[in-house]
Amino acid sequence: MVLSCENELPEILRQVDIVNFREAMTERHEDYEIAFVEGSISRKEEAHKLRKIRKKARVVVALGACSSTGGLNCLKNRFPMRYLQEEVYGRGAHKKKAFDTDTVRPIDAFIHVDYYIHGCPIPKKEFLSVLTALLMGSVPKITNHPVCVDCKLAGNICVFEKGKTCLGPVTRAGCDAICVTYGGVCWGCRGLVDDPNIGAHTETLKRYGLTADSVMDSFNLYDRCAIKRKR
Ligand code: SF4
Ligand code: SF4
Repeated sequence: MVLSCENELPEILRQVDIVNFREAMTERHEDYEIAFVEGSISRKEEAHKLRKIRKKARVVVALGACSSTGGLNCLKNRFPMRYLQEEVYGRGAHKKKAFDTDTVRPIDAFIHVDYYIHGCPIPKKEFLSVLTALLMGSVPKITNHPVCVDCKLAGNICVFEKGKTCLGPVTRAGCDAICVTYGGVCWGCRGLVDDPNIGAHTETLKRYGLTADSVMDSFNLYDRCAIKRKR
């Protein structure tokens, strides 16, 4: 998504020096002030690298769902690690260091994170707005109202009216409710709002003959790790 900012990249490059960008350049330096960190952590070695980044960077921004809440990778945590290693890499894989893997966690289970850019994928406009704020020395504004607000502004018919369920009432907006607008439902890729109105969500579910337990499984797709964080 960052690389798709073709129109904005020339201006960005006038304002910052990109010194380390694993996906886009081979040259690497370690003298940086702002670090955007993508991906969840599932190996000791990754946690070690992450701590080194935290020591060097003045500001650390979690970039995307995996980094912010653990994301889809957390589905892995539902199974025993040995079973997963052998399923993917073959019998005996759990004994080999090359296939080392562990419980998946978001990066703030290991380090302090200053700001979050949520979503899978992240909205380009949110990345640009956070970057602009950081360059101007101001505090980035991270959306903190539920997807339902954006969904209503977009003029969508609520999917509960169509017999489906949706995590929009408790999920952080900022994506313009894009999934509902294009015929889907919200699966919560941007994580929960800071103070989710669980009571109102439960009431909505009740109105449509549903219970909280009946939709809890939906949270497993993106928010499983966020529910249980350890530092
Ligand atoms: S529950 Fe889902 S479909 Fe209904 S208004 Fe909220 S985001 Fe839109
Ligand atoms: S509607 Fe929900 S699942 Fe879709 S992008 Fe927005 S937060 Fe993510």
